[in-house]
Amino acid sequence: MNNIHPTFQKLITREKKEGKLKQRAKVFWFTGLSGAGKTTLAEALERKLFDLGYLTQILDGDIIRSGLNNKLSFTKNDREENIRRIAEINKLFINCGVITLCAFVSPTERTRHIVKDIVGADNFFEIFVSTPLEVCEHRDVKGLYAKARAGLIPNFTGINSPFEIPKNADFTIDTTVETVDECISKLTTKIVHLINY
Ligand code: ADP
Repeated sequence: MNNIHPTFQKLITREKKEGKLKQRAKVFWFTGLSGAGKTTLAEALERKLFDLGYLTQILDGDIIRSGLNNKLSFTKNDREENIRRIAEINKLFINCGVITLCAFVSPTERTRHIVKDIVGADNFFEIFVSTPLEVCEHRDVKGLYAKARAGLIPNFTGINSPFEIPKNADFTIDTTVETVDECISKLTTKIVHLINY
């Protein structure tokens, strides 16, 4: 850290940027098993919020892992580094007044706490996509459950790596009982006052 002198937001503050965008920044964090519906819901929510006039940015596990974090593996250390970097990216968006919609398995309470600590509890809204393992495995959108069952993917969440149910989720969605439209409608009602300017 020698010779590094970060000067955050000296001239144009987050508040000024939020004023320009006429919105409040917030991190909406979707957690849940692979195939639970995180990406689908984040994308649908983005469309909805865009139509309502909000500026958002989606941050998605697969996209970040294939770009910025493509040298990181799924070991404990690399998972933590992955999540730390994602949290730091979120901080930049927040300071720019932009709402983020984040779709990451983030399987442990510790992982989610790391994000919450870095971005700040006030900026963080946790959405648990609680779709059960059987449903996710049946969907097997990316064919990963079949591979994991065949022993081809070590540390695959839900199969040979645990998923800890969030204890403090701000909102829970079970995609087995509601359509995407129903989920988004409920979620929008729940969050819109948090981002209204
Ligand atoms: P994840 O990002 O959690 O890995 P995806 O969004 O990639 O999950 O995949 C979820 C799958 O479940 C998609 O094929 C989607 O069409 C389907 N699905 C069915 N009902 C819902 C729902 N109510 N909400 C979200 N996804 C749903």
